[in-house]
This record gives sequence, C-alpha cells and structure tokens, in this order.
Amino acid sequence: MSITSKEVRHILLDIAATIELHKQELTDLDAAIGDGDHGHNMARGFEAAKAKIAQDESADAEALLKATAMALISNVGGASGPLYGTLFLKGSAVAKGKAELTLSDLALFLKTGIEGVQMRGKASYGEKTMLDVLIPVQQSIQADAEASVSAAPALEKAAKLARECAEKTKDTLATKGRASYLGERSIGHIDPGAMSSCLMIETLAASVKGA
Ligand code: ADP
Ligand code: MG
Repeated sequence: MSITSKEVRHILLDIAATIELHKQELTDLDAAIGDGDHGHNMARGFEAAKAKIAQDESADAEALLKATAMALISNVGGASGPLYGTLFLKGSAVAKGKAELTLSDLALFLKTGIEGVQMRGKASYGEKTMLDVLIPVQQSIQADAEASVSAAPALEKAAKLARECAEKTKDTLATKGRASYLGERSIGHIDPGAMSSCLMIETLAASVKGA
C-alpha cells in the first residue's frame, strides 16, 4: 500500500486538526519545563500550513510537504518551528517526482528530515527532545519497510512506539533547548516536542489505516 498525493494532503490536514485539538496539552507540557508556548506555536504553524495547502488543489506530495515546511518556518516563533520546518523541507526532497510514497519512502523522508533537524539543532537521541520519538520511529519504520511489512501495521506499531518514547522522556534529563536551563528539574515531565512528534505519528498511522 502506498500513499498518494491526495492522501498526503489528508494526512497533513489531519495533523493540523490533531495539533489544534491538543494545543492546550502541548502548551501545558511546555509550561512545566519551558516557556509555555509549544501548543500555540504548533497550532499557529499548522493553521498557516492548512491555508497554504488549500491554495493549490493540484499540488503533488513534494509541493504539499514543502508548503507545510515553509509555513512552519515562517509562522512559528519558537525553536520547534525551524526544526519541524527543516524536517518537512529536507524530507520533501524524497517525494520529488513521486506520485505515490511507499513505506520505504516514508522511512527515507524521516531519515533525511531527522538529519536536517540534527544539523540545525545539534541534538542527538536521549537529550529530551522531539528526536527521542522521531529517531526510534524512523528505525522501526525502516526495519518494517525492509521486512516488507505493509504500511498500516507498520505505522500502527510506530504509533505505539512513539507514545512509549514520548512517555519515556519524563525520566530524561534535558540537555538541549529551553528545558535544559532547568537541569535536574527537567526530570519528571514529558518533553512537549516529543509529545507533538508522537501526536503527528499517531495521526499519520490513523490516517493511513483509514484510507
Ligand atoms: P521554544 O523552546 O523556543 O519555546 P517550542 O516550545 O515551540 O520552542 O518547542 C520546544 C521543543 O522543541 C522542545 O520540547 C524540544 O522537543 C524541541 N527542541 C528544542 N531544542 C531542540 C534541538 N536542539 N533539537 C531538537 N529538538 C529541540
Ligand atoms: Mg516553548
């Protein structure tokens, strides 16, 4: 099963709706270890992405992902905007010239996107950031793509893993981003960016399952 451009559009709109729905939860998480703006930042960015996506009904997957990236980069004030924007922008190159995306393409989208995030933010796995969800999820999807598992079960597994990994950031010490200013006091709280990544992966899985 592969993901058409039309489905990419639906997935992005579903993600925008999820973020809007969980805006307060994400902001509350950020209030505990940051400056309390993550949910509002993300909702503003995805609202702008929604508007951009609506402008061009014939956009292909690459154009849709790029439009999302640019909306996040230009409309989110916090660190997460440029970081998620980079994820979508770098990842969009994988969709170039493709009418449909396979599970392998999705693994490559995440791999390329994560490399961009790491180049920009200099964080690695285990520092209590969005990467603590994105990296294991990418590895799981890649392994399933290599084992020819179909998209829906692979993404269902990835969504469960994303939730576990987001919850696990509670026990982690923040060493990057605003939460790192708190030192030991960052322990005991879920990282807001790890949770927004988890929500995006869960939404992706639900969208693909329902397609
Ligand atoms: P800000 O911290 O500027 O207020 P947000 O609140 O929107 O921005 O986003 C905070 C989230 O960004 C964190 O929870 C974390 O997951 C993520 N983050 C911060 N710095 C980095 C980094 N260097 N690399 C990856 N993710 C990061
Ligand atoms: Mg913040």
